[in-house]
Amino acid sequence: MRTWILSLLAVICFAGISTVPAEAVVSGHQPAQARSGNTVRIGILAYRGVEQSIREWAPLIDHLNHALPGQRFVALYLELDNLRKAIVAGSVDFVLTNPGHYAELEAEVGISRIATLQQAFSPVADQALGATVIAAAGRQDLQTLEDMRGQVLAATSQEGFGGYQIIWRELAELDLDPERDLAGRLFVGFPMQRVLEAVADGRADVGIVRACLLESLPDWQRHYRVLGQHEHSALDCAVSSRLYPDWPMATLRHTPPDLARDVAVALLQMPDNPQGIAWTVPADYQSVHALFQALQIGPYAHLKVPTLQHLAQRYWLFLLLATLALLGWGGYTLRVEYLVRQRTSALERALQEREALEARMRAGQEQADHLSRLSVLGELSSTLAHELNQPLAGVGNYAQSLLRRLDNGRLTPEAVREASTGIMSQAQAAEGIVRRIRGFVRKRAGLREIHALPALVQDAVALFSGMLSQAPHIEIDDRLAPGLRIMVDPLQIQQVVLNFLKNALDALRTASPDAQRIDIVLEACGAWVCLRVRDRGVGMSDAQLARLFEPFYTTKEDGLGLGLSICKSIAEAHGGQLSGARPDDGTGMVFSLCLPVYERTAESVDLPD
Ligand code: ADP
Repeated sequence: MRTWILSLLAVICFAGISTVPAEAVVSGHQPAQARSGNTVRIGILAYRGVEQSIREWAPLIDHLNHALPGQRFVALYLELDNLRKAIVAGSVDFVLTNPGHYAELEAEVGISRIATLQQAFSPVADQALGATVIAAAGRQDLQTLEDMRGQVLAATSQEGFGGYQIIWRELAELDLDPERDLAGRLFVGFPMQRVLEAVADGRADVGIVRACLLESLPDWQRHYRVLGQHEHSALDCAVSSRLYPDWPMATLRHTPPDLARDVAVALLQMPDNPQGIAWTVPADYQSVHALFQALQIGPYAHLKVPTLQHLAQRYWLFLLLATLALLGWGGYTLRVEYLVRQRTSALERALQEREALEARMRAGQEQADHLSRLSVLGELSSTLAHELNQPLAGVGNYAQSLLRRLDNGRLTPEAVREASTGIMSQAQAAEGIVRRIRGFVRKRAGLREIHALPALVQDAVALFSGMLSQAPHIEIDDRLAPGLRIMVDPLQIQQVVLNFLKNALDALRTASPDAQRIDIVLEACGAWVCLRVRDRGVGMSDAQLARLFEPFYTTKEDGLGLGLSICKSIAEAHGGQLSGARPDDGTGMVFSLCLPVYERTAESVDLPD
């Protein structure tokens, strides 16, 4: 939109002032043939607005049309961007622009200067443009460019080569970054008069104007002072910067060389005019490139893109610290991992050792159980032999009676049947005794099964009584509710019962015939079922009681002193308790085994054997 307004303005103004027809003026961004017939287009940077530019450059266009009558020269007044677009599109044949813009286009699209402007106040074409930093005359604190630090700066625009960029370069050499180190930047636009106003009315502390502007004002020293003034300037003005060449006239790649030469000659021959426009041979624009290079802008903007090397140079301390931190962290992590691994393997080792120890203990315990059972049997072996003798003798008797009857000729089928039945029952009795003993002494690992305590106790009592010729009377008082179950190794529980019974028997050896009885009570006690075995034997003293469960403690000549300590560990392995005490009512001892109730089932449930 803005482009169109500008173009329209250009057309209107140009049509009013110049002799060139209005329809010959085209806007820069429209693709168009550069040359149509003998029309030559000159793209001119209109940085101060179209109207001002037309006034400034009309004598130039008129001169060219006059000097080269075979051509029709047309001016296109365009802002920076549109001028660039017109050049890229090839819509113009010549370009007249500021040195900064020229240097950019030279690098970008290869435009080439044929003459440089030479104004009256700049005797050397290479050193015609400079910038002046001003402050209010009363600001004594502002003497050098260094003093701009922390001040508010006014300038026409950030892109302006003739003002801002020239001073920016000077500041960069003082390590002063306008964006970072100034209190603020005020871009007031054209005309440059606005910068003077901003400084005068205090909106800005300092301002940038083009060199020699001040000198056009009457009595300027009364109002303004110049910062960092250069003493030996080629210009006869107060300047704060080094100097650069003036505007060039340049050709494009497609511009015919003959035309370029004719235009160059015409420019050099341009007569004096009221605007003071004069041309000289092309100046050296290296200093402009140096400025862009120093500021890393324009064609050298790519230098700002950081390379790895730049980054490394700039952030080496940070990188070093980060690397050290990473190394430290990595080292710490490795150490922690190493320690964790060490600790884990130590724990695993300890666990393995513990498991091995437990396995050894279990094996030892089983072995001790086994020995204990053998010991009980050993002690009872004499009576066991007697017990087995009975059915064997019975079998013998039946066999003899059969032989006798055969010899006498009285062997009837009934007699054979009777004898055989007797032999069978005696053999079964013997087999029952042997089976129980074998089952009892069998060595095996502990297991857990659901059982009813009364059945286990009755079995143990049957085994015990079966091995004795003169067993004491054993009374079982079962006070347990039916359906109570315990989770036990049946053999181990029977072992405990047998041990209690055997000890009771030993204690009764010297007792009176009245005392020859053992009472067993089965009763519930909260969440426990308890078995109590009571005898009326010799009993125990306090000192003996204190050592009751001590391994190898025995008062018997042939005793091992292991029975009760093994029974205690069996009770504990079942989550139960074992104890021995003197009864409140008379002599003897009471030994108790209490086990946790596993479940309460209905009475109808079949009990295991
Ligand atoms: P052992 O029977 O081989 O001696 P135990 O550990 O079974 O080993 O018994 C340890 C000791 O406890 C016995 O030697 C005995 O002095 C005592 N003792 C155990 N039961 C009774 C009991 N019912 N009456 C008296 N003393 C007992």
